[in-house]
Formats: sequence, structure tokens, C-alpha cells
Amino acid sequence: MRRQALIAGGGIGGLAAALAISRAGWGVRLYERAPVFSEVGAGVQLGPNVVRLLHDWGLQGALERVAAFPERLVVRDALSGQELGTLPLGQRALKKYGAPYLTLHRADLHALLLQGVQARDHVWLKLNTPVTAYADSGHAVTLRTQPAAASTPGLHPVQAAPLLEVEGDALIGADGLWSRLRQQMLNDAPPRATGHLAYRAMLSQIRLPARLRSQQVTVWLGPRLHVVHYPVRSGEWLNVVVIVQGQVAGDLQSWDHHANAADLQQAMGQTAKLLQDLIQAVTDGGGKDSPSWRLWPLSDRPPMSGAHQQAQGRVALLGDAAHPMRPYLAQGAGMAIEDAAELGSMLAVARDPAFDVPTVLQRYALNRWQRNARVQARSMRNGQIFHARGPLRWARDASMKLLGEKLLDIPWLYGAAPRML
Ligand SMILES: Cc1cc2nc3c(=O)[nH]c(=O)nc-3n(C[C@H](O)[C@H](O)[C@H](O)COP(=O)(O)OP(=O)(O)OC[C@H]3O[C@@H](n4cnc5c(N)ncnc54)[C@H](O)[C@@H]3O)c2cc1C
Repeated sequence: MRRQALIAGGGIGGLAAALAISRAGWGVRLYERAPVFSEVGAGVQLGPNVVRLLHDWGLQGALERVAAFPERLVVRDALSGQELGTLPLGQRALKKYGAPYLTLHRADLHALLLQGVQARDHVWLKLNTPVTAYADSGHAVTLRTQPAAASTPGLHPVQAAPLLEVEGDALIGADGLWSRLRQQMLNDAPPRATGHLAYRAMLSQIRLPARLRSQQVTVWLGPRLHVVHYPVRSGEWLNVVVIVQGQVAGDLQSWDHHANAADLQQAMGQTAKLLQDLIQAVTDGGGKDSPSWRLWPLSDRPPMSGAHQQAQGRVALLGDAAHPMRPYLAQGAGMAIEDAAELGSMLAVARDPAFDVPTVLQRYALNRWQRNARVQARSMRNGQIFHARGPLRWARDASMKLLGEKLLDIPWLYGAAPRML
């Protein structure tokens, strides 16, 4: 009898977990609350630490068809436009870390994971099915879901569909920042508002003047703001993210807000002409009926403090459910994929019913939590350094000019994830 894993959430982390766990020889049942599998229209950077895992899963060809492979990362002063430092990527990353650094559309990454999962036997994917709770008896775990009600508009009022219960050997909470499963497992405080807002846009590079098109990762650092842009869709599109400090009124759980381009332009007031031109061109590129910019209030949690936050009994958390972070190291999805790979390795051991699932999940948590905490802490610190003013800004710029590549490269992150096993 095949052991069964239940997964809550079909984002990048949940699908990566479904792929890794199915490759480990388990059956998988994944429950996603949304009516379709989809991702937001935004980009994602993947370091060699993550790309290596995707290659191991047989996704190299699929990645090569949709990703961009930037040759370098350039850091600039957002006020003067001056170059502060450079990190060669391309061949250097490939040689040093055994995999490239790449940038792609989130929907492309999500789609290639989904295709990978759909190509496997013993995997069931269920849409329209929010998970609500679980019960861990010690011998098995039962997941409670509430499938969306079927209704005939105009004829019957929408009726609540019956609760469904499904039993498995292990349950993986990949239900994101506002995770229901985390809430039940840890009952801790909700995610905190960071006071940072992300304006995100993506557009075809053909719609930009030639001098604003780019095939590299560029990071502009300014007082209380920074901007990151990089190519996606094989380099044909440009993804732009502007992070500013501020608050939005309203629901933090709804990420994707309509953005007011005038607010953004005001925030960019003092910045270098080239950067202002880019922001203006992206705004103009969108048009009135389909505005380019969307606004995302950013929330996070303090860095993890122990393995108990990543697994208890037959339940394990993964990705943003376990360790949401500020996106200033570009590794949130990366850590979700690393979690998934680690789960796959651990559950391969527990394919044999002689192995105790809670012990194996505990090992997963022990192997992952410190690295996740380190990445969360480094992401937070990057935010302070990126947005620095006064003497800290001066010190940052001076050390970046002096050390450049040494400061920007992160061998402990881009090299293989350390393991205790
Ligand atoms: C501005 C910005 C830029 C970023 N850039 C990068 C980057 O360059 N590189 C990088 O690695 N990371 C980046 N990240 C982080 C990355 O987006 C997240 O860490 C990653 O998406 C987390 O994936 P996840 O699967 O854990 O969660 P999610 O993507 O949130 O997926 C959770 C899934 O669970 C579903 N779900 C939720 N509740 C339930 C429920 N009760 N029942 C069933 N299903 C449920 C949701 O519908 C969703 O499909 C960025 C984030 C932001 C905000």
C-alpha cells in the first residue's frame, strides 16, 4: 500500500511538494481553494540553489523554454544613477554553483510545476476546496475541507457544500502567508504589516524605448525605497518592482490592490532621470483600461525560532505558511522549493511503513528551520540596508564600491543547502 500525503495549497510551494513527494513514491492528494490553478502576473528570481533542484526534477528543458538568463546583477544608486557594484551571473554562477541564476514569470514557473505534477501517477489535484482544519490521531491525519457549493444561479440559494474528511499518513500545509493549518498548529500571532508596499508591473520590452530595455537584474537603492527590474519570458518582457515605505488602508490579506500611478511617481520624485523615465514608460505602456501597476502591501513574520514551527506530529508546514519573508533576498519561493525537496528526501525514507512518519517529519523540520530563519533575517536586514539614509547609506555605498562582487555573492545561500542527516 502506497503511503498518502495530503497537501493544502497549490501555489509554487504546494505544487513543488506534490512533485517531490510523488517522486518519493507516495500518493498525493492536493487541495487548492481557488477555482483554477493560477499565479499572479509578476516575476520571480531563482538562485542556483533553487534551479539545481528544479533540474534534478527533470524541469531543465521546460525552464530553458520560458526563463531569462541574466548575465549580471547591477546595483545602482537610485538618486545619482551611479553604479555601486556588480555580480556576474551567467557562466560564473553555472561554474561556481552548478546551476544558472534565472528570472521568469511566476505563471510560467507555476505552469511547469503543474505539468510536472500532472505527468505523474498517484497524484490527485482538487480545486475549489479550501481546507478548514485537521485532526492528528497519532496513527493518521485527517484533513477537513469545505468544497465550494454547486448552485444554480436564480433558482436555488447557494448552499454550503458538506464538509469532506480525508485521511492520510502526512499532511503538508502549503497554504501560504495566512495559513489555516499554521493557525491550528501554532496558534501564534497573525503576520505583521511591514510598512513596505510593492508596486509591481510587467510589460513587453518592445513597448519600451531601446535605452530602457534590459537583459540584466538591476537593483536601484534609494532612501526609503528601492527598485528591482529584470527580464522574464525568455527576455521578451521586463518585470519591475518598486518598494516604498508606507501603508495601505484596507484588507492586508488581499495582496493585489489597484495602484495609483500618481502616488508612485511622487515617491520617485528625487530619483535619477533614467529610473524616472523607466517608471513613466511602464506607466504609459499599460494604458488606461489596463493599468500596469498593481500594489501589494508586504507582510512577514519574525524569523523562525525552532523546528516546532515547521513540523509537529504528522503535520509539516512549508513555504510562506512556515516562514514568510520580505522579498529582499528574492528567496521566498526558493525556500518553499527547498522545503519541498527536503520533504521529498525525507518521505522517500518513510515510503517503507516500518519508518515512523512523525520522526521523519521532525527530521525535515530540523534540517530546514535554521536555514529558513537565516534567509528571513537576511531578507529583513537587506531591507534596512537597501533603504538606508545618512551615514549608513554612505557606508553601504563605500563598501559596495570596494567589495562589489564579494558583498553581493552569497555562497552559503547559492551553494547546496546544508543537511543534518
Ligand atoms: C513583491 C514580491 C516579490 C517576490 N520576489 C520573489 C523572488 O524574486 N524570488 C522568490 O523566490 N520569491 C519571491 N517572492 C516570494 C514568493 O512570492 C513567496 O514566498 C512564494 O510565492 C510562497 O509560495 P507558497 O506556495 O508558500 O505560498 P502561496 O504562493 O501564497 O500559495 C499558497 C496557495 O495556497 C492556497 N490556499 C490558501 N489558503 C488555502 C486553504 N485554506 N485551502 C486550500 N488552499 C489554500 C492559495 O490559494 C495559494 O494557491 C516575492 C514576493 C513578493 C511579495
